[in-house]
Amino acid sequence: MKIFEQIDLLNAFLFQQQQTKSIGFVPTMGALHEGHLALVEKSIQENDLTVCSIFVNKIQFNLEEDFAKYPRTLEEDIKLLESIGCNCLFVPDQQSIYPEGYELKKYNLGDIENFLEGFYRPGHFQGVCNVVHRLLDIIQPHRLYLGLKDYQQCKVIEKMTQLTSLDKRVALKFCETIRNEDGLALSSRNKRLSMNGLNKATALSKILNSAKEKILAAEKEVDLILLGQESIQNILKNGFDSVDYFAFVNENFESIDSTSKNNQPITILTAATIEGVRLIDNIKI
Ligand code: AMP
Repeated sequence: MKIFEQIDLLNAFLFQQQQTKSIGFVPTMGALHEGHLALVEKSIQENDLTVCSIFVNKIQFNLEEDFAKYPRTLEEDIKLLESIGCNCLFVPDQQSIYPEGYELKKYNLGDIENFLEGFYRPGHFQGVCNVVHRLLDIIQPHRLYLGLKDYQQCKVIEKMTQLTSLDKRVALKFCETIRNEDGLALSSRNKRLSMNGLNKATALSKILNSAKEKILAAEKEVDLILLGQESIQNILKNGFDSVDYFAFVNENFESIDSTSKNNQPITILTAATIEGVRLIDNIKI
């Protein structure tokens, strides 16, 4: 696997490839797990060349402490990527991505920017859009691989690529959430949990599943406000310290409060904190 820290060397390498090869790109913040590797594997299947990036993007962290505590395991990450046959790894520093005088962009994302994750993490999605846009400009891939584990992020990046016309040259590929045997969505943040915390954290996906089952089994309209409140109580009872939201949205990422509205597809999303670690998950109905 070729490893690049500097943009000009990466560009020189990619320039030769871009003429004849399709390029798949998987942006990550490292501390890689099977969820990330599934994206890389999908890209390897669908492209001639796969580029993965590892960059802990400071500007998308609204809490300094969260950025400082974000796990960094570069040596292991490199081994994992090599073991599955990734062709190229890009590991820039903050200075290369945001050089002196670099002007951050401001995207007009609409309501999604300040809803759910956006509400609890002000500025987060502008930070995400800036880094993804910058990385796409550097790497110029044909396909971009993103995990549905961060469903709102997928929707935001889709919007950003439409606003910037990047959608004309890069296809977005959304990939299913990878979970452990107990259903817990894999996340780099899980590395900060104790054994006990990890066990308790499995409640999150179980409660999402049980809300889904209730909706599917209901013969009449379901009051989603009530189901949301019950689910939050249930998450707290199972050992979480706090729950930011347990929300139901339609395909346009708008909040819905009952299932009556013309049987539209629903996604349930939640964010909750355990042992000081904030976890997110979602499930589609
Ligand atoms: P991150 O390193 O957390 O920024 O994640 C990099 C990419 O991996 C994002 O597109 C995530 O949505 C995706 N990802 C993270 N966890 C999972 C998972 N458990 N299953 C599938 N994709 C994931």
